[in-house]
Amino acid sequence: MLTKAPKGTKDVLATEVYKWQYLEKVFREVCESFGYKEIRTPVFEHTELFERGVGETTDVVQKEMYTFEDKAGRSITLKPEGTAPVVRALIEHKLYSGPLPLKFFYITPCYRYERPQAGRLREFHQFGIEVFGSDQPAVDVEVMALVYNFYKALNVDGIGLNINSIGCSKCRTEYNIKLRNFLEEKLHNLCETCQSRYEKNPMRILDCKNEKCQAEILDAPIMINHLCDECNEHFEKVKEYLELADIKYNVDPKIVRGLDYYTKTAFEFISNEIGSQSTVCGGGRYDGLVEELGGPSTPAVGFGMGIERLLLTLENNGIEIPKEKGLDIFIVTIGEKADKEAFRLLNDLRKNEISADKDYLGRSIKAQFKYSDKLEAQYTIVIGDDEVDKGVVSLKNMHSGEQQEVALVNLIDELKSRLGR
Ligand code: ATP
Ligand code: MG
Repeated sequence: MLTKAPKGTKDVLATEVYKWQYLEKVFREVCESFGYKEIRTPVFEHTELFERGVGETTDVVQKEMYTFEDKAGRSITLKPEGTAPVVRALIEHKLYSGPLPLKFFYITPCYRYERPQAGRLREFHQFGIEVFGSDQPAVDVEVMALVYNFYKALNVDGIGLNINSIGCSKCRTEYNIKLRNFLEEKLHNLCETCQSRYEKNPMRILDCKNEKCQAEILDAPIMINHLCDECNEHFEKVKEYLELADIKYNVDPKIVRGLDYYTKTAFEFISNEIGSQSTVCGGGRYDGLVEELGGPSTPAVGFGMGIERLLLTLENNGIEIPKEKGLDIFIVTIGEKADKEAFRLLNDLRKNEISADKDYLGRSIKAQFKYSDKLEAQYTIVIGDDEVDKGVVSLKNMHSGEQQEVALVNLIDELKSRLGR
């Protein structure tokens, strides 16, 4: 137990971390190019936030939350998703009174008690964005376009966009009656959770992962055939703007999404490469959530994207993430005086934004060179006690093997010019 990470969690080691850093960098750049600002919220929140914000009839709240009491007896939950905390922050800091729309992005760990498998973990990570304050269909499409541009920037093909409209509280009330009628005789064949959802939120039954339930709902009535005029017009405009943005899409009337407060547009990006956990990104409009959590009525739209599933998609598409370069400089020393000089020089180099390292294990010269190779250093500086006295070092290009003596006073300038800084 002591030396094994908890089930469903993963360490990110040096062999992988550059991939994460690259994805984070590209995601930030794309978000910034769309005018989004980063927001960071705590890893834990009051449990009620998710009960209200994600919805009591969702899988997340019913089965998957990491909930515990803190020492003062408060019920605390590790964030299972990113939207509710951002909405809480929006309300707490009255951000909605600033110029609208507000556009946020986040990079966050999430926690869900699920059965771990490929692309499904208990601690996983999400990229996400949220836009508050505009009900225009163009904003729904901007959100999808950001995902689309991000995938483009990563060179991934083979990710398709599926969209749906799940209506608003007006049209859904009528639809729910039709859906309940349809489900009534099938109820005894549905799983227990679905049975409990029948009264409160029958639409959620469409999202059940249970195969038996899926088979029962094959011919269920679909929401897009029962949209009110306003929702219908919104959906038509979303499609029009998707065409304007030159983004291909399919309408999938079965998309329900995991949050109870989604309204109108719901969408998913699906990778055909990663098997059963194929949803790499899910999002939609949630015009009711800010008000539900105690803020003023504020339309909103956003998405959440699993980073682990994105990494799987990239891997299965054979897309290589560029490796970071090795160290600029490794200093090999011979003798005690040289070792001290190297220590001083390290500081100088690093202050000049030249990455540098030296030996700290008292290695032989040969072993120091070997270690320099391991660190993929571009140049090695060799200093012996003699060199210290003369004020010079020997500079070796590790690719070409070419070696040259350089006066210490000129060293930084020489390195900067060689490294193109
Ligand atoms: P699924 O249907 O696969 O359970 P979901 O509907 O629960 O997904 P969302 O709540 O919409 O997922 O989360 C957004 C994204 O986060 C998903 O599309 C997926 O990429 C990722 N994700 C969700 N749960 C996990 C998990 N347990 N492990 C890894 N990634 C996950
Ligand atoms: Mg899920």
